[in-house]
Amino acid sequence: MSSPIVYLVGAGPGDIDLMTVKSLRLVRKAQVIVYDRLANPDILKEAPADCEFIDVGKTDGHHPVKQDKINEILYEVSQKYTNIVRLKGGDPFVFGRGGEEALYLKDKGVKFEIVPGVTSSISVPAYAGIPVTQRGVVTSFRVITGHEAKGKTKSSIEWESFNTNETLVFLMGLHNLKMIASKLIGIGKSKDYPVAVISKGTTKDQKVVVATLETIYEKAKDLPTPALIVVGEVVNLRENLQWFN
Ligand code: SAH
Repeated sequence: MSSPIVYLVGAGPGDIDLMTVKSLRLVRKAQVIVYDRLANPDILKEAPADCEFIDVGKTDGHHPVKQDKINEILYEVSQKYTNIVRLKGGDPFVFGRGGEEALYLKDKGVKFEIVPGVTSSISVPAYAGIPVTQRGVVTSFRVITGHEAKGKTKSSIEWESFNTNETLVFLMGLHNLKMIASKLIGIGKSKDYPVAVISKGTTKDQKVVVATLETIYEKAKDLPTPALIVVGEVVNLRENLQWFN
């Protein structure tokens, strides 16, 4: 028996056609797939008929199956199978805890490979007609976690550092939308600064709400998840670049 390999695979943002060729090839020969809540569960239909599925479904920011337990599950399946797919939304190393899982596997002496995926942080804005950079508008962008443990007195996000015109993409932030908008106004951004919230991006249920830092919360708070927040002048380009739906 060849030695087991755990493939930490990015599943892309939702549109199944945005899976990489490599990820599809691995899913099609997987003996077991350990998966999170995926933007597109149809991916699992590509697996072999006798593939075992293990749902460790994380919901936004909350982890129904604790990370330690997920790590243990990965180790357990590596003792039973050789082709193991650990499937994650978007890219496994962008807020996907892929790095933690890889470190754990290394520690246990289990081989792993990383299969990068199309991250939602760039592709979801793209499907809403929002380029994260644009010559003459903005030269950089940042991807930030919008999920901060409640009750924390000091924020680990350096809000002051956002006082530039960089495009800001917040993941896992919908439930903190009000706080995020008011923090950005607090550091000196205009109340009229453009913001978009994109829900279920790249899927047929994609919804995009464009507003300002002042109005976004009221307009977007009830959108379904997964959703991300884009802050920056590039949001205005959607008016002309909107192409999907
Ligand atoms: N590893 C993932 C991100 C994991 S964090 C990646 O690279 O895309 C999960 C967050 O990603 C969600 O809370 C949401 O903010 C964002 N997200 C993922 N898929 C999305 C989608 N289809 N539409 C909008 N936001 C999405």
